[in-house]
Amino acid sequence: MAIPDYLICLNCEAACYVFEWRDDEVTEAYCELCTSEEIDQFLTQEDFDALIEA
Ligand SMILES: [Zn+2]
Repeated sequence: MAIPDYLICLNCEAACYVFEWRDDEVTEAYCELCTSEEIDQFLTQEDFDALIEA
């Protein structure tokens, strides 16, 4: 899996470009909009779409 261009912050649903990605996982993330740093709160666009459709 390629490194995503951005992650979606579940807290405010903004695209976040400040993150670390290793072994197909988010290791660190930061949302500039709501200052969330909980990596559990970030999804790739793909995972976010899957969540919305579920
Ligand atoms: Zn946010």
